[in-house]
Amino acid sequence: MSRFWIRAALAVAALAALALATTAAAGANWGWALFSGGLLGIGAHHLRHLVRLIRWARAPIGTPVPPASGIWSWAFAALSRRSRIAMEARQQLTENLERFLDAAQAMPDGVIILSRQNAVEWLNAAAESQFGLDAERDLGSPLTNMVRQPEFVAYLEAADFHEPLAMRAVRGEPRTYSVHLIPFGEGRKLVVSRDISHLERLETMRRDFVANVSHELKTPLTVVRGFVETVLDGLRDMEPAEAEHYLTLAEEQAARMQRLVDDLLTLSELETGSPPPLDERVDVQALIAELAAEAEALSAGRHTLQVLPGVPATLIGSAREIRSAFANLVSNAIRYTPESGTVTLGWSATPDGGGAFAVADTGIGIEARHIPRLTERFYRVDRGRSRESGGTGLGLAIVKHVLSRHQAVLDIVSEPGRGSRFTARFPPRRLRVAPPATQRRPSAGPSS
Ligand code: ADP
Repeated sequence: MSRFWIRAALAVAALAALALATTAAAGANWGWALFSGGLLGIGAHHLRHLVRLIRWARAPIGTPVPPASGIWSWAFAALSRRSRIAMEARQQLTENLERFLDAAQAMPDGVIILSRQNAVEWLNAAAESQFGLDAERDLGSPLTNMVRQPEFVAYLEAADFHEPLAMRAVRGEPRTYSVHLIPFGEGRKLVVSRDISHLERLETMRRDFVANVSHELKTPLTVVRGFVETVLDGLRDMEPAEAEHYLTLAEEQAARMQRLVDDLLTLSELETGSPPPLDERVDVQALIAELAAEAEALSAGRHTLQVLPGVPATLIGSAREIRSAFANLVSNAIRYTPESGTVTLGWSATPDGGGAFAVADTGIGIEARHIPRLTERFYRVDRGRSRESGGTGLGLAIVKHVLSRHQAVLDIVSEPGRGSRFTARFPPRRLRVAPPATQRRPSAGPSS
């Protein structure tokens, strides 16, 4: 700064010296005229730079500092340096803000920033779709103008945001959102919404499952208790044959409960257990022969049983699980095929290099609307018929789990009154084409 004053003092001193020299040479009038002219020139120089400075200050941010001369070049250079630093800081801030907004946009949860008056200040794409909002149209409008569900308005007004609110979507497919308001800053709020439809579905499935299991167990349990009470009441004067009759009926119901519990345990093992052993080798033709023998026993001569000739094949996976799945399909075919019907088992190679185990029957068949739901736990087309034939309603659920653990799929083709075909298709990686050298014998029996 001192350099500035020295230069200013030197300029005025030089002008004064020149004016004095002129006075001495040409008279006082010329001396004063030179001095005044010099001062005017200095003034004009400063005024010009001042105008440039004002224009620059009014120009958009980022406009380069104008050129300057003399003492102003120092001031303008300092300004230019400050302006550059401010621009860099601003650029950095803009980049940070953009990164933050990009991250908030990419969030799967909905985010809305509300002003003190609950007007929408910012929102991300998930919030747009969850609340049916439009960022361009709705910015600045009060959120309750667009989201009018009474429970949401009451939640916002009550201003008690400790617990999130569960809110159903009013438009589109049925969905449930958990909406949480988080106050921040001075009176502002953050609305965070999350799609919890799948959690709700799981909770409903869990409730239904518990209700189904309780119901399935309650009926045979009540019957068993009734028979046991009857026998106890008549213990003194009941004929042994009559007591045996009641106890036999009770035993049948106990067996039904046992089957149900066994199937439940199998399912739970499949759902929570470790992955199936990958290395067991199952000789498919030998397994089919065993299943055919079991089917003969189950049918007790009421059906015609056919085994289609097929190529030898070895399946790789869990022998116990594969046997259980195939046995379920065979037992269903017998149980849902009236007397004198035909049940056909067979293995065939598929064009992709995999293989398929198919069970076809000429039984009661299934209406198309039931087919997508058959593998749900406890789903039955005809509850009475399933129970009469000793079904638990879990057989196909077990089949589906086993197959998916082996990357296989179940195809069902059926026509009411004409019969059904259940096909388990295995991918090539689950197959060895050559017959096994040593076969591990599967052991578990059918579950239903
Ligand atoms: P269930 O123990 O009742 O047989 P599943 O899970 O094995 O239970 O089968 C579910 C339902 O699918 C059965 O109740 C029955 O209505 C239907 N179903 C299964 N297999 C057949 C079949 N081969 N023919 C006709 N209906 C079948």
